Amino acid sequence: MIVRKIKVENFRNIKHAELDFCEGVNVFCGDNAQGKTNMLEALSICLGRGFRRARTASLVPFPESDDEQTRPNTSLTLYYEADAFSGKQNTVHYKIVNGRSSVELNGIPLKAASDLYGELRYVIFAPEHLALVKGAAELRRYYIDNIAILQHKAHKRAAADYAAAVKQLAALNNEILASPDTVKNTSDMIGIWSDILIRQGINLTYGRLKYFDLLRKAAVDLYSELTRGNEELNIIYHSNVFGNVEGSLPDFTSKNELYGMYVEKLNKFQFYGQRSDFRIRVGAHKDDILFSINGINGREFGSQGQVKSIALIMKLAEAEIIRSHNRETPVILLDEVLGELDAMRRDYIVNRLGHSQVFITACDHRDFLGSSVDMRVWEVKDGEFYTSGRERFGIL
Ligand code: ATP
Ligand code: MG
Repeated sequence: MIVRKIKVENFRNIKHAELDFCEGVNVFCGDNAQGKTNMLEALSICLGRGFRRARTASLVPFPESDDEQTRPNTSLTLYYEADAFSGKQNTVHYKIVNGRSSVELNGIPLKAASDLYGELRYVIFAPEHLALVKGAAELRRYYIDNIAILQHKAHKRAAADYAAAVKQLAALNNEILASPDTVKNTSDMIGIWSDILIRQGINLTYGRLKYFDLLRKAAVDLYSELTRGNEELNIIYHSNVFGNVEGSLPDFTSKNELYGMYVEKLNKFQFYGQRSDFRIRVGAHKDDILFSINGINGREFGSQGQVKSIALIMKLAEAEIIRSHNRETPVILLDEVLGELDAMRRDYIVNRLGHSQVFITACDHRDFLGSSVDMRVWEVKDGEFYTSGRERFGIL
């Protein structure tokens, strides 16, 4: 996919902007609080999913004075080509009128902007994604589930059914704790939900591992390129039922076999009786992804630059999966990625993300000096975008 142009009217601090993009690297450069991230957010909304997950009301510009009654209408128009060869131009028009948002694709109203997601694809790296390495395991499960869901709708069902089983078993457990006499009455229900827990837990783990293997391979190669072979990244999926998995689950031929392993593991947690909480002490909702660099735990001992590099590479690996699996080239949005990275890693980001269209924010234009790739630079000041950025910054 190639994004040709965006027109922005009254979006956060951007009153009006009309930007024609290049197929290579598009840079929004300027001081803090000028509107760079706002422009990435506008792009992501048009691509079906605002990456900041902001409320609609917060997207409309603040009133300029206290007595201002009406707020202006917001309008974002994105022109893109789904595939660069056909040349067919499509238009997404997102607007907010009187606080209500609506979206049209080529003039046809859609139920929700999220209908676009999946048809249009982007991958974003923003500072909050450092949590992918540093934050709770839940974020890493969410990351891998999202990738699997985009590729395979049934994964969504498995994730939802599994979460329901965990919730129901926890509720049954609370009932039993409150009044132990209920054990008998609830044992049927515990049996039913435990079966769902195991079956969907296996489906969930299977679905995750299917894409984890691809992700791992892509990420390991990309990390090596980023660091010119100086650092070696390794990634492990830790299933607390099946143990550490470095690739897919090739050794397990049948799901029955997995079912047996799962039950065996669950049984180990039932020394003290048939209480349901023992069933939810293990399972896919406790799994994690572990990162190491040159054999050292990245999450615990990684430097800031290494943690950022891992998170970024996981995002680029996600783009790689979309490219190889869906034969589509997602747009890459990079917010604040260059800070804390050394010259070699910055050079990789600026010059080597060759086959994707990139939108990147930066405070320091010097990061782009001497770049040889197809590049367009805007200087961003107080919500205005100046195309003269490239000449002004001397980026040739
Ligand atoms: P930084 O380099 O610090 O990340 P930035 O250029 O990315 O800066 P943005 O996040 O784009 O900055 O925000 C620019 C300004 O937009 C901020 O000062 C913010 O307060 C302002 N802003 C956010 N929402 C609105 C809104 N609804 N109306 C008007 N201004 C807003
Ligand atoms: Mg910003």
